[in-house]
Amino acid sequence: MQILDGKIVSQAVKDVVKEKTFLLKSTGKKTPHLAAILVGSDGASETYVASKVKSCEEIGYTSTLIRLEPNIAESVLIEAIEKLNADDDVDGILVQLPLPKQISEEKIINLIHPDKDVDGFHPMSAGKMVQGLPTFLPATPYGIIMMLEHYKVETKGKHAVVIGRSNIVGRPISILLNRNSYPGNCTVTVCHSHTPNLKEICLQADIIVAALGRPGFLTADMVKENAVVVDVGITRVADASKKSGFAIKGDVDYVNVAPKCSFITPVPGGVGLMTIAALMMNTYNACVAKNK
Ligand code: NAD
Repeated sequence: MQILDGKIVSQAVKDVVKEKTFLLKSTGKKTPHLAAILVGSDGASETYVASKVKSCEEIGYTSTLIRLEPNIAESVLIEAIEKLNADDDVDGILVQLPLPKQISEEKIINLIHPDKDVDGFHPMSAGKMVQGLPTFLPATPYGIIMMLEHYKVETKGKHAVVIGRSNIVGRPISILLNRNSYPGNCTVTVCHSHTPNLKEICLQADIIVAALGRPGFLTADMVKENAVVVDVGITRVADASKKSGFAIKGDVDYVNVAPKCSFITPVPGGVGLMTIAALMMNTYNACVAKNK
């Protein structure tokens, strides 16, 4: 069994963009600028945004963090995004999800200029991805693809089962694994909360992507020998032995599933780190495309 190590691969990706950013700087070109908006102070969202800002600093990007109160009117966030859309120095915009109930996520995502949509959530980016056109791929699926590529995991002709069909993980990774390219060329089954016989379907899978947000959901009896397992889940579970009071759990019962796998991602230390690396790659590409 080989661990698909998010620490190693994300560092490799970040080293590449760091080098490229250094080259931009040394030739007098504009370097990337990522603007993040955080509404409220949800613990998990704070952690994600802090990691993104830290990665920008490590790589040499400019970062701007805009913090807004949890009870703001939707119009306040709209105004903040419109300002960032119009700001020539800003190459990428991310709005940390989830947003408070009074704000429509759909409306906000649609408002981000597609040229600055480094999270890859805008319908324009999603549509281009479906058609196989160059675009910003959503960060988590893009990170998974980079990880499979790094470890040269064979995907052609394999049966991939994706558990979860959200717009940010399940659906896009199912499309990318199905593309006529590498990694891709899988026959993909997308499962969701209404799928009967999930265990039987998973047992037929060469590759399983678990993205449902149910800690320890994928158990050893659902996985065939030598399967590749990608665990996207991140759930905070109360744990008195930790200083923070919680542990991060994936969707896979790692201890029992790992011995059956050819490759598996750990949680933490797997897909989460790749998501940030992919965001950094998208931000670099946004900067270069915008300032040609
Ligand atoms: P979501 O809640 O939007 O979607 C969950 C999906 O799982 C839905 O399509 C639902 O139909 C399906 N599902 C729920 N229960 C199921 C069941 N019992 N059987 C089969 N399918 C079921 O979640 P999301 O935004 O896609 O996130 C999924 C998980 O991935 C969460 O734990 C989230 O925190 C995590 N996540 C991690 C990263 C990362 O960087 N590692 C990024 C995004 C999301």
